Amino acid sequence: MTTTVETPSEHFVPGNLPTHLQHYINGEFVDSIGGKTFDVLEPVSNQKYATAAAGQAEDVDLAVAAAKQAFTAGPWPKMLPRERSRVLHKIADIVESRDDELAYLESYDSGLPITQAKGQALRAAENFRFFADLIVAQEDNAFKVPGRQLNYVNRKPIGVAGLITPWNVPFMQESWKLAPAIAAGNTVVMKPASYTPLSAVLWPEIFREAGLPDGVFNLIFGSGGIAGDYLVKHPDVPLISFTGDSSTGATISTAAAPQFKGLSLELGGKSPAVVFADADIEAALDATVFSVFSLNGERCTAGSRVLVQRDIYDDFVARFAQRAKNIVVGLPSDPATEVGSLVHPNHFDNVMNYIEIGKTEGRLLAGGGRAEGFPTGNYIAPTVFADVSPDARIFQEEIFGPVVAITPFEDDAEALTLANNTKYGLAAYVWTSSLKRAHNFAHAIEAGMVWLNSNNVRDLRTPFGGVKASGLGREGGYRSVDFYTTQQSVQITLNESHSPKFGSVADAAVSGDS
Ligand code: NAD
Repeated sequence: MTTTVETPSEHFVPGNLPTHLQHYINGEFVDSIGGKTFDVLEPVSNQKYATAAAGQAEDVDLAVAAAKQAFTAGPWPKMLPRERSRVLHKIADIVESRDDELAYLESYDSGLPITQAKGQALRAAENFRFFADLIVAQEDNAFKVPGRQLNYVNRKPIGVAGLITPWNVPFMQESWKLAPAIAAGNTVVMKPASYTPLSAVLWPEIFREAGLPDGVFNLIFGSGGIAGDYLVKHPDVPLISFTGDSSTGATISTAAAPQFKGLSLELGGKSPAVVFADADIEAALDATVFSVFSLNGERCTAGSRVLVQRDIYDDFVARFAQRAKNIVVGLPSDPATEVGSLVHPNHFDNVMNYIEIGKTEGRLLAGGGRAEGFPTGNYIAPTVFADVSPDARIFQEEIFGPVVAITPFEDDAEALTLANNTKYGLAAYVWTSSLKRAHNFAHAIEAGMVWLNSNNVRDLRTPFGGVKASGLGREGGYRSVDFYTTQQSVQITLNESHSPKFGSVADAAVSGDS
């Protein structure tokens, strides 16, 4: 598929938009065997713009069989790391060259503002480059017991990895799983979220052009409850990497448990942004507003609970609310837009429901419903609730939209109690000018990732993941390679093998030895 980029207009449609999306199995685009499809909607109008093949058990079977064949009989797992690395670098080059095209597809399909969709391909390409480099630098241990034994680690790819991804920044999230999985020599079956299948259709073309052998990458569209569930339970899929909602993560854990599958779960969040009175207030204001309202608030690491020290509370809250009111809500394709359209009418309803709950739980200072001037589509005005108590649902539950709960605190101890007072533990942000406080607070907070006086930017070598209901396992750097490989330990003696002679007494008696 080639998509021509056009100038954004009132109702922008990327050129050459496909009207039907097919699975990709063993190097071929195919429909579901039974012909089932589902409708794909554009979020600005909620009109259907395409159909997609709806994968059923028999389609997943085909994809898994292709991936298994490519693993057991194909060249990919046996290739030298350098050879695989070259293919990954080519993939990165091609992804990078399609940044604009991807941005328009992603923005069209998910409602993400175009300026925030741009650059996603560069991040996706960086994931491929990073793991391309890592895999050739990979080293493993060998241990010698002098004169007795040599022990070494034989690292091996595992087999078919099932990759299940969410609808927020889908292409980038997919690259985060695809790159390490295939870099390590596995083959994959990927199931993207059914709300946003469009950008995934770029992968087959990119992989073909880069020279990835057929069968290494297989793509199945479809619902989580059918295609996703069947993939998770498939006996020929030993690994599942999942990103999505915590309750789905729990369902997947249960489904995968009887087969003891390798599981990586990147789940939901309700991350605190803690602003102390001694912080650089301008920087904290910019960052906290951006954190919760960028990507339409559909960001797993959004700072959706802002905790503010009492001394600066009134002023900070007033300024925060004013910023929220000034945010430009608009067409995703308009470069001036800061908040676009939420992804899907079902998600829009969920977020609107939380806003109604919030009106009974906090002081509404901005937004509070559908954005003015947008009678249709999934547009929500950036919404600010202040004085939210820690037992409120909008304090405890992930909303995943442009809605923030702000709560005051008196001192460090109360801030920490509030910060840790949810079931989640994905990210946390701390704003203070005290180095001592920043580090002590970071160490005490229950979060997989902490940003001190900074926004959500992370070196790819660092661990990514959450604690509590935010996830299980870590990806990032060598941790991803660890997840997608098994480490077999091999031992050999350098001497005689000294085994106790079990069963040798009878032999001795028969032969007359004493
Ligand atoms: P979701 O859990 O509804 O769906 C995620 C994927 O799982 C989709 O592909 C879906 O089809 C599939 N799925 C659903 N039920 C399944 C089942 N029973 N078996 C197998 N697969 C199934 O999540 P979503 O609404 O697409 O994404 C939003 C959620 O993802 C939010 O909670 C967000 O915080 C989280 N998220 C987390 C991270 C992270 O890195 N921690 C990143 C992005 C999004």
